[in-house]
Amino acid sequence: MKSAAERTGASAKTLRWRYHCPACGADYAIEPGRYLCGPCSSRNGPGKPLEGVLECAFEGQPERGGIPLPVEHRYFPHIPVGHTPLWEPARLRNELGFPGLFLKDDTREPSGSFKDRASVLVAAFAREHGIGEIALASTGNAASSMACIGAAAGIKVKVFLPKSAPVAKRIQVLQYGADLVEIDGNYDLAFDTCVEYTTRTGVLSRNTALNPLTIEGKKTASYEIVHALDRLGQGRPDHVFVPTGDGVILAGIYRGFEDLLATGEIAAMPTLWAVQAEGSSGIARALATGVFESRPSATIADSISVDAPRNGPFALAKLRKHGGRAVTVGDAQILEAQLLASSRAGLFVEPSSAAALAGFLKVRAEIGRDEKVVVLLTGSGLKDVRGAARALGVEA
Ligand SMILES: *Cc1c(COP(=O)(O)O)cnc(C)c1O
Repeated sequence: MKSAAERTGASAKTLRWRYHCPACGADYAIEPGRYLCGPCSSRNGPGKPLEGVLECAFEGQPERGGIPLPVEHRYFPHIPVGHTPLWEPARLRNELGFPGLFLKDDTREPSGSFKDRASVLVAAFAREHGIGEIALASTGNAASSMACIGAAAGIKVKVFLPKSAPVAKRIQVLQYGADLVEIDGNYDLAFDTCVEYTTRTGVLSRNTALNPLTIEGKKTASYEIVHALDRLGQGRPDHVFVPTGDGVILAGIYRGFEDLLATGEIAAMPTLWAVQAEGSSGIARALATGVFESRPSATIADSISVDAPRNGPFALAKLRKHGGRAVTVGDAQILEAQLLASSRAGLFVEPSSAAALAGFLKVRAEIGRDEKVVVLLTGSGLKDVRGAARALGVEA
């Protein structure tokens, strides 16, 4: 199996990379200690979506068929991230009447979630710069992911995790040997506590959105989707359903398709659907109203449960620019979709990922039967068996 590193080719060397602020147009060097755009982030505060989130940009022509990333492949740790399968779920297709339905299965990442795509790039960056410690806040998956990749890379990892995180995610963190700081509060408090720690100590932050590499690492999935459909002779994706909490996966998927559009590998941007839980719908609400207002989140889908979507403004700008859509789903719909994926496709996903499928089910009347639809399934069902047990009405 090819690792993410092998797929990047020589692009980090031959392309000229920089951080770019999409809000004001400022450019910065990609270097340790640089996170947000200075002027654009001056009004940021605890518990608020981040302004001034940077993105990676490059000049030069990337290799066709490769994935341009800002760190050279020799720095990538040896752990097989990415290259996950694109399922063609025959029974589900028949039942729903959508022959062009595909499931992108990121339950198969080393730590069991999509987060590994970001963690491996951050770890490669740390190795490039001789950095020995990475810290982050997480609802669970980013923590278990960074701990996993850190173990393979030989990098110390410190995680700030709410006490309410599902037990499997917490045990993963400890198994991989990371330092665990349990937070008596929610993810938003964990995030702010971690930012205080990394600012004080200078430790590399893998906080989602804050570190632009967390966005860039996630774009690899867009390339894989396009390349896999190509191999199947299926043309281009028309719709991609993305489970959305902070909006970093959504931004990363956009980054990938933007690259592919720029290099001519796709002719048009697919419609991206930000799927949120009804109880944690900051981005969907802002797309409708234009403003972010923080609300206490409440949903069974812990990985997309955030009060203030940290990458909200960036994700919203991308949705607006590309005509993206948002859809919200209730916990009952999420649990129904989870059971559907398990029992009809044989793919057991965690509730956040089931939300993406539930989003598709909710809006499918708006989608043509001949269109190519990709649902991004971001985390394994084994991550939270208690939630899954609820769907069945049994004890766990
Ligand atoms: C983190 C996560 C998400 C949501 O990603 P955001 O970048 O916060 O929008 C969705 N699914 C899983 C499994 C995750 O771990």
